[in-house]
Amino acid sequence: MNPLQILQKHFGYSSFRLEQEAIVHAVLAQRDTLVLMPTGGGKSLCYQVPALCFPGLTVVISPLIALMKNQVDALRLNGVHAAFLNSTQSPPEQSAVVDAVRAGTLKLLYLAPESTFLKELPRYNVSLLAIDEAHCISHWGHDFRPDYLNLAQLRTLLPKVPVIALTATADRQTRKDIVDKLSLRDPAMFVSSFNRANIRYTVEPKRQSSERLVEFLRSRRDDSGVIYCMSRSSTEEVAAFLTREGFDALPYHAGLDRTLRSKHQDLFLRDEVKIIVATIAFGMGIDKSNVRFVVHMDLPKSVEGYYQETGRAGRDGLDSEALLFFSYGDVIKIKRLAQVPGNEAQTEIAFRKLEQMAEYGDLRSCRRRFLLQYFDETAPQHCGNCDICLAEHELVDATILSQKVLSAVTRLKGRFGAGYVIDFLRGSQAARIQEFHKKLPTYGIGADVSKDDWHDVIRELIDQGYLAKAEGQYPLLQLTDRSDDVLRRTSTVLLRKSLARPVELESAAVE
Ligand code: ADP
Ligand code: ZN
Repeated sequence: MNPLQILQKHFGYSSFRLEQEAIVHAVLAQRDTLVLMPTGGGKSLCYQVPALCFPGLTVVISPLIALMKNQVDALRLNGVHAAFLNSTQSPPEQSAVVDAVRAGTLKLLYLAPESTFLKELPRYNVSLLAIDEAHCISHWGHDFRPDYLNLAQLRTLLPKVPVIALTATADRQTRKDIVDKLSLRDPAMFVSSFNRANIRYTVEPKRQSSERLVEFLRSRRDDSGVIYCMSRSSTEEVAAFLTREGFDALPYHAGLDRTLRSKHQDLFLRDEVKIIVATIAFGMGIDKSNVRFVVHMDLPKSVEGYYQETGRAGRDGLDSEALLFFSYGDVIKIKRLAQVPGNEAQTEIAFRKLEQMAEYGDLRSCRRRFLLQYFDETAPQHCGNCDICLAEHELVDATILSQKVLSAVTRLKGRFGAGYVIDFLRGSQAARIQEFHKKLPTYGIGADVSKDDWHDVIRELIDQGYLAKAEGQYPLLQLTDRSDDVLRRTSTVLLRKSLARPVELESAAVE
């Protein structure tokens, strides 16, 4: 049977999806292969179909025992002879599996990376090695697992056997590391697009986030979703809070009793409970297609993690939401937790990842573009389906508001930084404001706008080239060639509606 027939007969699908076909062909040509495909993309078939084409055994390395069991159960239902071997099995169960390997009847064998059976493999007819969640082998990845380093010996143990490494999450460095650590030989690389067009990315400031969460959920009464929290205790608190507010929510974290945990998971999977409030312990290997939203109450530790967690939304392709509550307080808090004691290099990496995540939270440009670029994928300037792009559609004329800043900068002769300019605009009584400045007509013309808003407006004006920050020791605000056009009103400044609140739209006398 050819691969397509196998796909149809054993898996019941009519055609390959995305790059599956090319991947399967590379594997069948016995090339080493690295597959980067988003969660839900269909990675499993990339080695399961070849496994049924090859004469020998395909060994699959998978990090989670629960995941292995699900996969093996699903394969068996499809009539594929598959099994796993791990420490949870009784000795007779284990020897039954080994017997099947020895007899050559087994097609797929799932092993954990720490399995002692790896050393036995050279004695059997192994046709293919599949390394799932391959990013776990890299220190650069966000989910390094020391056990995975065990896999580096496979190339020596089985020098002739092709290897397919698969992951849903690996930046360029992690990819290189996977290739090095597994000694992949001139691997065929398959990188699928990471764009999840049906997911809308939104960030809100983390203020009164419980109330905001309730508002968010009220407009999504019938939807299923996951709410991620940083700590076990907060999952329970949020779940209890939502229950009091009349929602259907259960907590999930690794500290819950096992039966309770799987009960909550099952209720959620069966749609009997709409909302699961979880730590990141929840989600790996969970295949629920109609998750409509993923909310992060706290800042995730890395962009990879965030991308993966949000990727659990909208697997059915329907519109879904990813909402993050962001605050700088979280960055500082998580920095403390992210430290790896006694390992400076690891701490350094963890900090960098956290800072990139903070950058996402504070982004002024398209969030999808940022995510895609993070995975080295090119993306258009605007996606039209993130909070930033959507807000950009709503631009308003903020020429007068901008004139206020520009005249202040003119009056202050470009000798002051943003903080002073803002105090001046707001008519601050602070001692540092020079007396003669208080007599200028521009002093206090921007008292109706908050400091934070002024900072945002100034930042935007800098982005648009109407203002500049001087190079050098102090970031003094200065005019640019374009400033004059605004002051003379020959040019209109458009700002996002959220920045230029209605109060600034009314006319004001500006000198
Ligand atoms: P991943 O491991 O990349 O997260 P899976 O291998 O679990 O993804 O596949 C995700 C879902 O897509 C599964 O339900 C799978 O059955 C389905 N799927 C994969 N390939 C195809 C295909 N060619 N046609 C239809 N459905 C597919
Ligand atoms: Zn966008």
